[in-house]
Order: sequence, then structure tokens, then C-alpha cells
Amino acid sequence: MQNELLTELGKSLVTGNLTDPTLLALTASTEGVRILPHANVIKIGGQSLIDRGREAVFPIIEEIEENLGRHKMIIGTGAGTRARHAYSVGIDLGVPTGVLSVLGTFVSMQNARMLHYLLAKHGIPFIEPVQFPQLPLYLEERGAVIFFGMPPYTFWQRNPDVGRIPPHRTDTGVFLVSEVFGARSMIYVKDENGLYTADPKKDKRAKFIPKITVGELREMDLQDVVVERAVLDLMETAERRRSIQVINGLVRGNLTRALDGEHVGTVITAD
Ligand code: ADP
Ligand code: MG
Repeated sequence: MQNELLTELGKSLVTGNLTDPTLLALTASTEGVRILPHANVIKIGGQSLIDRGREAVFPIIEEIEENLGRHKMIIGTGAGTRARHAYSVGIDLGVPTGVLSVLGTFVSMQNARMLHYLLAKHGIPFIEPVQFPQLPLYLEERGAVIFFGMPPYTFWQRNPDVGRIPPHRTDTGVFLVSEVFGARSMIYVKDENGLYTADPKKDKRAKFIPKITVGELREMDLQDVVVERAVLDLMETAERRRSIQVINGLVRGNLTRALDGEHVGTVITAD
């Protein structure tokens, strides 16, 4: 290509080394666009919500229905107990993390399919990653789409630091969708009021934390947290999704309040 057609950055990229930190820093010099700034990304928990069946799922479905036309919703699903069972069988058989990731993907797909059929009468589609180019159209036309929360890495999932469970699971997959689209929010719908100083199911004295930064959370060095640790890692370098919200989906009205921009549950910010 003629060098005059290239910008200064273009010349540096074409001729330079992509491991050079000075050159890499230049690639962040333009302002990033927000592709779907009006869309909300919502994750419906697997173990925490969907596995509880009708009692937990129907009220959430109703709340999603009530918000159709009020808010655009990109809804991802968790995997949950069935995935943990599949992981345990896979681990017993000695299959690698990449194969466990395939198994988890199909369980989060089962959950997405169930929510999809419950919402089908509103014309809300279930979409696989290959259909994401149509997502903006569906969102504009129908107001919501459903997808499976697992990032579609399958075999290409990295190994965890410890053990074999895929480190990037459904909390991570939905987070990345919110980040890449520059969405309006990232709301995790689970079964606790948000983040506590310990797992409230195991420690009755655990204290609720309404707001915290990733840095403060790291300093607290909690034994267990309410979202996948990979999400906290990704938040540090996120360009658009600098905060997440974790709400209790067993409390009617919480999802609507979160969609309306209220501070319900815990808000975790990158800085
Ligand atoms: P999902 O169903 O979305 O995959 P998980 O079950 O993986 O959600 O994570 C939510 C669970 O995390 C909660 O039900 C809670 O019991 C547990 N948990 C662990 N540590 C904490 C903590 N520090 N604060 C709140 N919840 C926690
Ligand atoms: Mg989970």
C-alpha cells in the first residue's frame, strides 16, 4: 500500500512491532464508540436463580415482560448445578478444561432455551454467537434477545491458575458482551442482595457491601465473592463497562429498579 494513504498511526502499525508498548499505547488515542449505548445486559443466574424453577423464574419472566418497551434487554443465562454435575463427570473422566468449557456452554444453552420459550410469545429470539450480527435488529424490533452466557471459547478456553474448571464462565461471557457493545448496564440477577464480606449462605455474620471498587475488593482478599473473579480482572482493563451491579432477583421489583438506574444491590466499580 502507498505510504501516503496511511495515517501516522497507520504507518507505525504497518511497519512497527505489535509488542512495542509505545506503539500499543497509541492505539487507544481515539475515542471508542458505544455500539448499543441504550441496551442493558442482564444475566439471569443459573444455580442462584434458574435452578430454583418456577418459584424464582416466573416472577423474573413477568418483570422482563413488564419492562419490554421500557428498556432494551440483552439477556444472558448462567449454567448452574447441571454444569457442575457435568464438570464432575468430565473431571472424573480426565477431560481437559477446553472440553469442560464445551459442556458448560451446552448447559447455559439449555437455560437460555427455557427462558426463550417462556418469552417466545413476545417474539423474543434466542440467538447463538453466530447470530450476533442480527442482535441490533432483534433488539430494535422486539426489545430483547436471549443468549447463552458462556463465552464461546469452547476448546480455546484458557486453563485456570488452579484446577481445571473453566475460569471464564457465564458471568464473564455476559460482561464481555456489555463491554464490547458499550451497553448502558451490566446487571447480575442472583439470589442474594449483592456482595457480602463472606458467602451469606455459609456465614450468618457476613456484612452487606452496597458499593465497592475492584481495588478495595482485592485488598479485602475475601475467601469467596458473588461474581466470577475473571470479571473483576477484566473490569480493570475494560474501556466501557467500568461498573457492574449485583441484585437479588428473588425480590420482586429489583430488576425494574436496577433497569431504571436505581442503586439496588451492590455496585462494583473499576475505579
Ligand atoms: P450464578 O447462579 O449467577 O452462577 P453463583 O451461584 O455462581 O451465581 O454465585 C452467586 C452465589 O455466590 C450466591 O448465591 C452466594 O451464595 C455466593 N457467594 C459467595 N461469596 C459471596 C459473597 N462474598 N457475597 C455474596 N454472595 C456470595
Ligand atoms: Mg456462577
